Amino acid sequence: MTRRILIAGNWKMNLIDDIQPIIDNNANRKLDILVCPPFTHLGIVQSAVKDSAVKLGAQNVHDEDNGAFTGEISYSFLKSLGIEYVIIGHSERRHVFNETDEFINKKVRKGLKKGFQTILCVGETETERNANRYKAVIENQLKIGLMGIENNFENIIIAYEPVWAIGTGKTATPFDAEDMHRFIREKVAEIAGNEVASDIRILYGGSVKEDNVKELLRQDNIDGALIGGASLKYEHFNKIIEIAELINI
Ligand code: PEP
Repeated sequence: MTRRILIAGNWKMNLIDDIQPIIDNNANRKLDILVCPPFTHLGIVQSAVKDSAVKLGAQNVHDEDNGAFTGEISYSFLKSLGIEYVIIGHSERRHVFNETDEFINKKVRKGLKKGFQTILCVGETETERNANRYKAVIENQLKIGLMGIENNFENIIIAYEPVWAIGTGKTATPFDAEDMHRFIREKVAEIAGNEVASDIRILYGGSVKEDNVKELLRQDNIDGALIGGASLKYEHFNKIIEIAELINI
């Protein structure tokens, strides 16, 4: 099975300098392009990307449909805007907003039930890596994050994002990233079987840039990238897309 490359931009609490060149440049791409703006800009960006190959995702969501959850957004609201993708369990949600694996799992399950392409982020901290606990940490995040999904794996995408590499300029080496991606695929096979594991897309995230994306995407088990900083300037994001497309051919 060939897994289609996905290049995803996570804008966090920022806006891109210009979205139009990304839209114009992507009519017949052989890969998937995704942008994830802040909630307040989903509608505006949706109008801009409407007839293009660029897909739109949210950076977070709540698992409840509605109720007394001040400041939160539900899947139903995202659906009404035509959003197809959602990022769940990003390291900033885990570490800045203290989201637990159990809460993340509820959101993942709801996202799949509602038909969203659901990107589950996993990643170890620097302390966990230095203490040689990183594989156990990732295994646990996967086990809980993917609990109760059963036959609904086709819309799951995993993003391996080592916390020490996010926004720091310190990328995992292609060798280390591939080692983790292979490990994640093995764990998915244990949870959901070999077929699911061979089909599932596993993105790498953590200081991906024009000058490191090629070697990362060349690895057998790296199927795309989740990009923060370098997705905010269209020249950089476009360049990454162009490099990724050459890998895909
Ligand atoms: C991210 O936000 O998911 C991320 C990987 O950020 P950066 O590319 O800036 O490290």
